[in-house]
Amino acid sequence: EAVLRLSGLEKSYNRGKPNEVRVLRGVELALVPGEIVALVAPSGAGKSTLLHMAGLLDVPDAGTVEIGGREMGGLGDRARTAVRRREVGFVYQFHHLLPEFTALENITLPQLADGATERAAQARARELLSRVGLEARADHRPAALSGGEQQRVAFCRALANGPRILLADEPTGNLDPATADRLFDVLMELVADEGLSALIATHNLELAARMSRVLRLDGGALHPQA
Ligand code: ADP
Ligand code: ADP
Repeated sequence: EAVLRLSGLEKSYNRGKPNEVRVLRGVELALVPGEIVALVAPSGAGKSTLLHMAGLLDVPDAGTVEIGGREMGGLGDRARTAVRRREVGFVYQFHHLLPEFTALENITLPQLADGATERAAQARARELLSRVGLEARADHRPAALSGGEQQRVAFCRALANGPRILLADEPTGNLDPATADRLFDVLMELVADEGLSALIATHNLELAARMSRVLRLDGGALHPQA
């Protein structure tokens, strides 16, 4: 049973206008439990668009998104938001941490928004921080952390609510190669420990080759990479 299933996904921008851009033209994907799939695509191919559909940040023009066997198209806004918060973790190329809050607070906030107690949220945040080697940085604000450290905190935040799916858009793209490599190991460990399934967009073909399989987004559809 797929954790995430995309079927016949289509998406255009400026739909029906002369400047319509058809980005997705029938995307099919079944992400099974525990697998880590690399998504490779030339810039502009639509990988952010695809990740936004999968993460319920945007809705397709046609096709379906199923999470945990449930079709998302029929859900109202509140139910969609709840699924997005609990079932899906996001990591972006830039950390998007809240600058005025500490590392610990950035990881507790999504849990509090989802109804956790302060005590439980802090315990989970500290546990995650220690797993990425940042227990000593809990009370630092993002500006006081290095790029690699900021991204580790962003990973912790993405996993704070115990999602089943991790979606990542160039999670190591903003870092030097050595830092990117180490960070990628941390991410793979977290994903394995938490028993997640992941879809990770990357330009780095060496990193892609270390994942369960590689899919290329081209012409608006996904193709297996030999
Ligand atoms: P990628 O992440 O692979 O670089 P995107 O999904 O960001 O690609 O964009 C795919 C295509 O859709 C690009 O041609 C981009 O210019 C276009 N596009 C993205 N967002 C919009 C938008 N809001 N309005 C119009 N065109 C867009
Ligand atoms: P990209 O490089 O993929 O275009 P951006 O630079 O736009 O990404 O980064 C900001 C991101 O925050 C966007 O992808 C936006 O969709 C995302 N975002 C917006 N609302 C939410 C939300 N509720 N949860 C997680 N991410 C969100």
